[in-house]
Amino acid sequence: MHTNTKILTQEFEYFAPKTLEEALDLLYRYKDKNTKALAGGTDLLVKMKTIDLKVDYLINIKDIPELNFIDTDNGLKIGAIIPLSQIEKIEKVKTKYPALYEGIKSMAAIAIRNMATIPGNICNASPAADTVPPLIVYGAEVKLVSKEGERTVLVEDFITGAGETIIKADELVTQLNIPEVNKNSGSAFSKKSRVKADIAKINLAIWLERDGNICKGCRIVLGSVFIKAVRAKKAEDLLKGQAVNTDLIIEVARKASEEIKPIDDVRSTAEYRTDLAQVMVEDTLKIAWERAGGKL
Ligand SMILES: Cc1cc2nc3c(=O)[nH]c(=O)nc-3n(C[C@H](O)[C@H](O)[C@H](O)COP(=O)(O)OP(=O)(O)OC[C@H]3O[C@@H](n4cnc5c(N)ncnc54)[C@H](O)[C@@H]3O)c2cc1C
Repeated sequence: MHTNTKILTQEFEYFAPKTLEEALDLLYRYKDKNTKALAGGTDLLVKMKTIDLKVDYLINIKDIPELNFIDTDNGLKIGAIIPLSQIEKIEKVKTKYPALYEGIKSMAAIAIRNMATIPGNICNASPAADTVPPLIVYGAEVKLVSKEGERTVLVEDFITGAGETIIKADELVTQLNIPEVNKNSGSAFSKKSRVKADIAKINLAIWLERDGNICKGCRIVLGSVFIKAVRAKKAEDLLKGQAVNTDLIIEVARKASEEIKPIDDVRSTAEYRTDLAQVMVEDTLKIAWERAGGKL
């Protein structure tokens, strides 16, 4: 039975540790079993109900105070259990990280965003995850902690494929670090889905930095067009160091649409996604450039 979304039929052991140390001990003790960290549960519990994802040990991390913080002093540092609905209310997210703000606001309904977390979105590693393109364009990294030590990894390198990441069985994402953005930079997010609050046919984030009418640096990341979110690096190279005008933006958008490798699936055809990508990159690039103070 694969379709019942209401009843959790499998048996598992449930823990709700009150400290990070306790959670890491549990992850270490059960690292060779089917063990999962539970944050908002908006992906995990659905999978346990609908696709028979077998879990023996479920470790709810939502009661751990060390994961419950927001630091906006230098860039952004966000603890792993902060729900999306709290992140979208941070003034600095709205004003300095609009691509992340718009990505979060595009996700689901508020009831889901009250539960869901960014690390959950990243660890689930859907190619359509809406926080991932913004996080990659801002150069965000996750902090991974285990009993044996800690490391930080760029979100860009953390996700390796559909549902695949480099996290080890005894590691927990404890926080997200997003570097400070410069004054002359601009960013934007765009998403096309069948209806509002649906999974993306394509999502896209762009960040760029301006020096006069020159684009000093940029990152262009598209989701739902490959097994993971991808940077359109050839398109980025076309833009970097160049005087920005409408003709160049059209050329960059065309290049980006040539770089992606979308597939046909229930949400869209590869052909439609390719055409759509071009239009979306063009429009989003114009918005990011204007937000950086650039004129066209
Ligand atoms: C109705 C509905 C609509 C949705 N719409 C969207 C949408 O528009 N866009 C979108 O991108 N997603 C959407 N989602 C998917 C989901 O809400 C997001 O991916 C969400 O961010 C997952 O976060 P979570 O905290 O609920 O993760 P959970 O379900 O708790 O966990 C997901 C995975 O991450 C792991 N995990 C979580 N936290 C950690 C941690 N700190 N360290 C290590 N591993 C961890 C879990 O073990 C699990 O494997 C939707 C889901 C639903 C049910």
